Amino acid sequence: MTTKPSPVRADIDLEAPGKRVGHVRVPHSTHESAYGWIAVPIAVVKNGEGLSVLLTAGNHGDEYEGQIALLKLMRELQPSQVSGRVIIIPRLNLPAAAAGRRTSPIDDGNLNRVFPGDPEGTPTEQIAHYVTSVLLAQTQASIDIHSGGSSLEYLPCAFARVPEDAGLRARQRAALQAFGAPMAIMVEKPQTNRSLSAVAIAAGHVSFATEIGGAGSTRPATQAIADMGVRRFLAHLGVIASVPPVAAPTRLMRVVGAEHYVYGRVRGLFEPDFTLGDVVKRGDRAGWIHFPEEPERAPRELCFEGDGLVVCRRVPSLVAPGDCLVHLASDM
Ligand code: CA
Repeated sequence: MTTKPSPVRADIDLEAPGKRVGHVRVPHSTHESAYGWIAVPIAVVKNGEGLSVLLTAGNHGDEYEGQIALLKLMRELQPSQVSGRVIIIPRLNLPAAAAGRRTSPIDDGNLNRVFPGDPEGTPTEQIAHYVTSVLLAQTQASIDIHSGGSSLEYLPCAFARVPEDAGLRARQRAALQAFGAPMAIMVEKPQTNRSLSAVAIAAGHVSFATEIGGAGSTRPATQAIADMGVRRFLAHLGVIASVPPVAAPTRLMRVVGAEHYVYGRVRGLFEPDFTLGDVVKRGDRAGWIHFPEEPERAPRELCFEGDGLVVCRRVPSLVAPGDCLVHLASDM
């Protein structure tokens, strides 16, 4: 990562005791606003001694459980409840969140694919660089709350890159159990090394992401996992007083590699032959792709290439080559 300073600034003091709500200002000069900036809401709640924790959502703008959970926490959390410091950013890639899109309409930036960022890059790259160089550098633990977004729906889970360091791996495992999602999926071959989670873990953070629901909306059950999960995480770290734990332990799962995924190979309409939560075997039918422009043509049958639990499905029925249609996970 470049050592050039970030042009991005918070307009509140992140170090002083107390509670402050303000904005992270990302310079963005446009036709409408020559000296303007993008105002990303941020809150800090600090009191006494303890760990500093960074909580983010809206990294992808069309994932809502985390945005709503952090807006609630931002309003409710008071300094008297905190030992340490909590930094809360509910809509990290604000232009994407404001548009209800995964990526930013300003620069087409996919924030979770550009870390560690670039201080002289696009607004999305500048946000990533600010998180890496300023926020992760002054905190020790973090959660980046994701959901499936517009194109995917997940069985609600924590979603964790596996740290190489054994000590950090054990601390992450304990924090995942404390977060209390029904499942935690350990990702052994991540899709990207340029995520917030990747740079957080590289910085020594106790950190993970989540995939809580999705399909471009929220449900009471998925929202409750996000709302309570961030509080259980803070309590686990000793930053807030203990909160009631979940009744059932988190089921530890793993995603191994390509055999856990089924991708679209042709353009058409996908008819799934599975439901989220199904247990399937290699060779089982995953569904069919129909060819609406060639009605006489038989549909293409797709099969699973591995064994496992169906944890994620594509939401839109229209598919193209390269679209992820479904993926599996296996018990650890
Ligand atoms: Ca996401």
